[in-house]
Amino acid sequence: MATQLIHHPYRAPAAFDAVPVGVYKASTVLFPNVAAVRARRWQDKSGYTYGLHGTPTTFTLEERIATLEGGRHCVLAPSGLAAIALVDLALLRAGDEVLLPDNAYGPNKALAAHELAHWGIGFRIYDPMDPADLAAAITPRTRLVWLEAAGSVTLEFPDLPALLAVVRQANAAREVPIVTALDDTWGAGIALRPFELGVDIALQALTKYPSGGADVLMGAVVTRDDALHQTLLMTHMRLGLGVGANDAEAVLRGLPSLPLRYQAQDASARALASWMQDQPRVARVFHPALPDSPGHAAWRRDARAAAALFSVVFDDAVSAAQVDAFCDALRCFRLGYSWAGPMSLCMPYEMPPLRQRPWRHAPHLVRFAVGLEDIEDLRADLAQAMHVLA
Ligand SMILES: *Cc1c(COP(=O)(O)O)cnc(C)c1O
Repeated sequence: MATQLIHHPYRAPAAFDAVPVGVYKASTVLFPNVAAVRARRWQDKSGYTYGLHGTPTTFTLEERIATLEGGRHCVLAPSGLAAIALVDLALLRAGDEVLLPDNAYGPNKALAAHELAHWGIGFRIYDPMDPADLAAAITPRTRLVWLEAAGSVTLEFPDLPALLAVVRQANAAREVPIVTALDDTWGAGIALRPFELGVDIALQALTKYPSGGADVLMGAVVTRDDALHQTLLMTHMRLGLGVGANDAEAVLRGLPSLPLRYQAQDASARALASWMQDQPRVARVFHPALPDSPGHAAWRRDARAAAALFSVVFDDAVSAAQVDAFCDALRCFRLGYSWAGPMSLCMPYEMPPLRQRPWRHAPHLVRFAVGLEDIEDLRADLAQAMHVLA
């Protein structure tokens, strides 16, 4: 019986077809004979060799994310941050430099400042709102330029075509071109067309919009260029960056509703951001669709939508303790990291230590991530918490 429970002769008919993709789980993948072992290739998705190298579930998710971003290839990583690390490790070697915008996702900067620095890879921070500052940061050692739109926490929207033109101009005089990588978690494949703008790599934390459930951690690295994809794929293999089949299935389940969720959260976030602007004690609201938010013109020209995020700084008269009390007084907006899930979230940040360039506003900022609740409940929640600011 023990053997029969493993080597069972029944094979389900192969023609099963349904709306969801099957959840295929495997470490071992079986081969019918040695010739098949020798012939089979996973690199081009023509076959299966080992669970880490792909299953029908992960191949399908990769293809769908590549389509979402307008690319041709995709590799999956166990988190958005792991996807960022994969790009760094695949492309950088000792002596190289990587350039990061001052408002990059914080852990991307921390990885550069710690592990990459330990390995002899330099990093420089540039002002994403000033293409001339990027031009000045490029040296013969520059190998990789990270871009992010909108910026993390502060949501400035950079002039991506101008930044990419700076890199293109530098590349004209170089043998080994600088690679550009856009962290497109905010755009999620909906708001921006990264490859039409001219980036080499578009990365997403699938943790956010594609999952949409606040239940999965995953990242994706999308490319159009075959050679660049092969470089990423080989590093991905050597690092052993697998994702679980159940997690891949959860993201596949989230994808069909992604455009609707993005649109719904965009509408709510815009409405709440502009309402917030009119509240007493509010000094500044950051959301790229607001006309006085940094980079609004670039956003209007290059983006088709905006994500669920807006950030607020209060009057100088509002103390740090009052900002904390405001966050504690909220009921619908819960305290927590991440965003693009069903539940609205908020998080206070002390800005000056997060930025290398001077921060010209009150130091305490609150970032809001709008969920899928009824917008009137969210507005009422923000309104009732205002009393602690008086
Ligand atoms: C959340 C996030 C990441 C990291 O994603 P994890 O899956 O949480 O590691 C990377 N970039 C941006 C812009 C993010 O918002």
